[in-house]
Amino acid sequence: MLRVEDVYFAEESDPKKTVRQYFDQFKLSGFKWTNKNLVKWFVRDTPERLKNGINLEDLTHDCATAFKEWRRWSTIRFRPTPEDSEEEADIVIQMTDKPPKTTGWTSWKAGVLAVGHYPIDSIGKIAGDIYVNSKDFIWRSWQKGKELGLAFKSIWYDFFSMILHEIGHTLGIGHSDDAKAIMAPYYKRVPKPYILAQDDKNAIIAAYGKNTNWSQKLQDRITRNKLDLK
Ligand SMILES: [Zn+2]
Repeated sequence: MLRVEDVYFAEESDPKKTVRQYFDQFKLSGFKWTNKNLVKWFVRDTPERLKNGINLEDLTHDCATAFKEWRRWSTIRFRPTPEDSEEEADIVIQMTDKPPKTTGWTSWKAGVLAVGHYPIDSIGKIAGDIYVNSKDFIWRSWQKGKELGLAFKSIWYDFFSMILHEIGHTLGIGHSDDAKAIMAPYYKRVPKPYILAQDDKNAIIAAYGKNTNWSQKLQDRITRNKLDLK
């Protein structure tokens, strides 16, 4: 049986769920990138991306920022592949009007924003790939969306918030019960610059080990920046 995430629903929150506070709320899928200390990613441009209206540079920038945030806390490293070498990529990210075959769906299920595949060897090349639903949702880079003003806010979804979540899956992390975690199964728009929730950090460290090169000084500076935003 193939295991595919998501179901990552579009609702801002699930009123049926109570927010619980546990230390370990993340779940690991049991799959992870092995034999690799460098995972390569690639954004496949599609006609759907153009139709959706998100700028390719913005989209790629959001992906790079999201990879950087997961990398910050763990030993796993990422690198974008050049435009002409998609075949080298471990993780391919694309916007598409059709869900991947692995879901068994003929069209996108209502409310599903994207699907991120766990790094499962047996599913072949699609392992780690991310399919973003461009049929039912308008995607914008957070920065650009902001410039367009509040009136626009209600109809677009933040590409960065979504891709940060989906990358978590491609690294082997499942959904979290912690509502503050980016790996909670419901979309939320996160502020920028963004720092992963403690639960997400615990998950990535459990899977790949802690990034010990991360200096306390830099960490303090980031914490300060985050506080300044409030
Ligand atoms: Zn998910």
